[in-house]
Amino acid sequence: MIVGEVNIKTYLSKSKLPGVDYTINPYVGCPHKCVYCYAEYMKKFTAHPEPWGEFLDVRRCPVPLRPYMLFHTHVMLSSVTDAYNPYEKDFRLTRKLMEQLVFCQAHVRVLTKSPLIVRDMDLFKKLPSFEGALSFSSSKESFRQLAEPGAGTVEEKINALKTLKENGLSTAVVIAPIFPQITDWKEIIRLTRPYTDRYHFDALNMRPAYQKRVMQFIARHFPHVLGLYASIYEKEYISYWRHLQQEINDFCTQNHIPGQADFKHVFSARRTPEE
Ligand code: SF4
Repeated sequence: MIVGEVNIKTYLSKSKLPGVDYTINPYVGCPHKCVYCYAEYMKKFTAHPEPWGEFLDVRRCPVPLRPYMLFHTHVMLSSVTDAYNPYEKDFRLTRKLMEQLVFCQAHVRVLTKSPLIVRDMDLFKKLPSFEGALSFSSSKESFRQLAEPGAGTVEEKINALKTLKENGLSTAVVIAPIFPQITDWKEIIRLTRPYTDRYHFDALNMRPAYQKRVMQFIARHFPHVLGLYASIYEKEYISYWRHLQQEINDFCTQNHIPGQADFKHVFSARRTPEE
């Protein structure tokens, strides 16, 4: 892993995500190395010759976060990196930013695949509101090792949720991306339900930049579903996700699970002959 530093003028990016005013990405790059990483396009803003997942830039900004801008705004960490990646243990950059967010009294949501999130619970408790969201693409550690080799283990993430909950903090589970016929979303719900306030679901929305890599991953490790993937991603895209959305939503309603799938953005991202 090549670790460097870049100077920036601000950590804040205006967000178009619902209910989020700003996103903060303390790093460029991500050592979690998810096979489906949607943030790889960030490489073009760097001078790194190394492949995505092989470098990490620590973003340095001389200007502190300003309370007059952030007071009671909604801030999310992070959108194109994982703020609690293993290198954060030494750099403590996310922690320094969290101290500033406490000073600014911002509402904060953290999305991560790392158990390191629990280190900063003392700060989360001082925010006006906080939600810690852990993301899972499978409950099976064997799949996690293949698809997200640098991230926390399934057990570590469940333990992190439990610790957040036991400390009176709000929690969410993001079941994403859902790999057709692989992501055991009902089992993820079963394992996390006691420690989770809210569920969010997202589909494996393959963009051209990484579709080839993900299909090669499926061909290599899950050849028995390759035909299904070809069918979904070449012609039955909309109907597959509509059907799954309905199944998830019926299950959540019947079992009083706080969450609903909404794959509308996935439908609009892909035009197929079905439309
Ligand atoms: S944790 Fe997020 S940013 Fe990091 S590699 Fe995985 S998908 Fe990409």
